Amino acid sequence: MLEVFPLTDETIRITGNLRTDESFQESDLQELVEQRSHMPVHIRDVEWFSLFRVHNRMVDTFIHNRIILMGDAAHINSPVGGQGMNTGIADAFNLGWKLWLHLKTGAPHHVVSTYRDEREHVARNVLQTTNIATEMLQTTLPMLLPFQAIGADVFTRVNLINQKITERISQLHLSYPNALRLPFRRVAEGKIFPETEILRTDDGFRTKISEIADGRFQVLVFDDGKRDLSSIYDYLNENQPFIQTITLSKTSRPFFDQGNELAKSLFMKRGILVIRPDGYLLHKQHHVRLKPLQDKLAVWLPSS
Ligand SMILES: Cc1cc2nc3c(=O)[nH]c(=O)nc-3n(C[C@H](O)[C@H](O)[C@H](O)COP(=O)(O)OP(=O)(O)OC[C@H]3O[C@@H](n4cnc5c(N)ncnc54)[C@H](O)[C@@H]3O)c2cc1C
Repeated sequence: MLEVFPLTDETIRITGNLRTDESFQESDLQELVEQRSHMPVHIRDVEWFSLFRVHNRMVDTFIHNRIILMGDAAHINSPVGGQGMNTGIADAFNLGWKLWLHLKTGAPHHVVSTYRDEREHVARNVLQTTNIATEMLQTTLPMLLPFQAIGADVFTRVNLINQKITERISQLHLSYPNALRLPFRRVAEGKIFPETEILRTDDGFRTKISEIADGRFQVLVFDDGKRDLSSIYDYLNENQPFIQTITLSKTSRPFFDQGNELAKSLFMKRGILVIRPDGYLLHKQHHVRLKPLQDKLAVWLPSS
């Protein structure tokens, strides 16, 4: 196998597999590339050369007593698909705010444990898929070689397949299924909350909900003006260190859902959404009763 990636107009990256017992040096590159590409290539000005071993393994558990693992220390996979660093960064993104909640505010320990529940299966999936992709790319079995060529061709030529694989590799469509309750609704609990805009009433500009996030849970209250929401607001104000409240109504300040666009797109005439600090939808209710909201957040917030 030989892969060539254009990096800049003048630089390319070449990768290839070797047998483990091979001792390979920079000076062997020219011959290897010629042999495998069947092209008259001249390699010059090598900026960086390195051998690496493909690993495919993960620890039994991401949390052991007071030790929490993430990144390559927790899971290490083949570089095929380029997901190792991304998975590690997503681990940190998932864990950081939970640790903060637990250590700084006294939120219950199981908040931190959700890191293990949510991230272990993601890492396991990445390991499985990159392992299959690596096996396919490196196979020397004659009967599999035609599939290898067809697979590469289909991937580069068929947009839909390319898009699906890219979505999977980018991990942007990831969800944390334990939090999933209502998969048939448009924005389901456990899914990343989509980039959504609302109007800032002070300057008339539109802003994304993710842009005004400040590390707290974001609670979006859709108020149709027909119910008394004072008990909801009392609760939200009491927990203001952990909760950023955004009211969206026909008259709300400082944010405004112009033309009820957001409410309509979410089928939320009246109700409440809770977005986690890492941007995932934690809770969605189409009514303004306090108890279900309280119950949902009680799991995450320190008891008062
Ligand atoms: C060839 C190749 C290509 C890749 N391409 C991609 C890609 O395109 N996209 C992608 O997402 N990922 C890619 N990866 C994977 C990516 O490089 C790793 O997943 C990522 O670097 C892991 O980051 P990390 O911080 O978890 O671990 P590391 O980068 O290994 O960082 C750990 C650090 O801890 C230090 N350390 C270790 N022990 C100690 C100690 N006792 N005390 C203090 N410090 C210590 C180490 O020196 C190191 O600096 C690739 C990997 C390879 C090998």
